[in-house]
Amino acid sequence: MSEQDEVPSEDRRKYEFRKVIEELKDYEGSGTQLVTIYIPPDKQISDVVAHVTQEHSEASNIKSKQTRTNVQDALTSIKDRLRYYDTFPPDNGMVVFSGAVDSGGGRTDMVTEVLESPPQPIESFRYHCDSAFLTEPLAEMLGDKGLYGLIVLDRRESNVGWLKGKRVQPVKSAESLVPGKQRKGGQSAQRFARLRLEAIDNFYQEVAGMADDLFVPKRHEIDGILVGGPSPTKDEFLDGDYLHHELQDKVLGKFDVSYTDESGLSDLVDAGQAALAEADLMDDKSDMEEFFEELNGGKLATYGFEQTRRNLIMGSVDRLLVSEDLREDVVIYECPNDHEEYETIDRRNTSPEHTCSDCGEEAAEVDREDAIDHLMSIADQRGTETHFISTDFEKGEQLLTAFGGYAGILRYSTGV
Ligand SMILES: [Zn+2]
Repeated sequence: MSEQDEVPSEDRRKYEFRKVIEELKDYEGSGTQLVTIYIPPDKQISDVVAHVTQEHSEASNIKSKQTRTNVQDALTSIKDRLRYYDTFPPDNGMVVFSGAVDSGGGRTDMVTEVLESPPQPIESFRYHCDSAFLTEPLAEMLGDKGLYGLIVLDRRESNVGWLKGKRVQPVKSAESLVPGKQRKGGQSAQRFARLRLEAIDNFYQEVAGMADDLFVPKRHEIDGILVGGPSPTKDEFLDGDYLHHELQDKVLGKFDVSYTDESGLSDLVDAGQAALAEADLMDDKSDMEEFFEELNGGKLATYGFEQTRRNLIMGSVDRLLVSEDLREDVVIYECPNDHEEYETIDRRNTSPEHTCSDCGEEAAEVDREDAIDHLMSIADQRGTETHFISTDFEKGEQLLTAFGGYAGILRYSTGV
């Protein structure tokens, strides 16, 4: 596959985003002069240009000449960038950052970055001018990996919705026809009780129908389902097997919540925090379990930058495991005898001298790039999935500290 045909994987795009955000987060402006604009997908570019033009003219009121010039330069730079876009921004919208950042010694550098198509749609237009760029909303979006189904119910009403990352999204609601406990005069107690049970059963079926409609089509993407409500309603609902059996298997737990309106969905997320944190780490944990099993008894584990890289090139890696906290560059050296060698270093350090381990000659640096990018681009060409592994659990921490942050689970043993 040629360089141009290479389509970056979702994970790789997220990694690129994360890198840019980390860089932007560290910048500071000497005044309130760093401009950030969040543009939702349905916002016309011409509207954004009009807004920027307006801000540009208002900026003429800024007292400090330096800040005024910096803000206006940033806005001009943003307008220049917006020219490249048609009527609407790309899918999911985009975020524009521009401003004069301190580069030490009283000097400034003009920085302009455009991040297109974030992993989730930008919800509302935001214009922000401050001494720092506004990166939190994007950073939150990237930290969000889970998709969870939410159900709250009592005998009167029910709401179902999604938890996407940190955002709760109510989707459907229902109200029941279950009569209160007080029966009307003239009704026999027995008949009343039976009708009431029937009504409750009907309502549970209706709630399950709502949940099935919403969740079943997404059952392979859902990381779990939380059910909330008072007792014994939520217990009756779950124990009665009303939910589609594949959804039933996804239930992470049931939690006490007092409200069953839309606000109850947020209460449910609060109550289920521990279960959600556990579920978020589940994929990472199972990857690392498998890695350690192969390391101890099998033949399908590899680790360290060089070994992992060689296996990737052979196409033998099923899953590339990279520590989420890794920030390294790889320096590529070539000696006079054409031996190529790789050395990974902390991103903030300058490239060290390198002696060829093959022939002992001094080797010259021929290239330097982000180490994860380097591996992921090979992975993308070989159909290897990349998984970023959190350091929030013991074996994840070990990937970083004991294995250099790079590992792979192999499709077949290569002896490398
Ligand atoms: Zn050499």
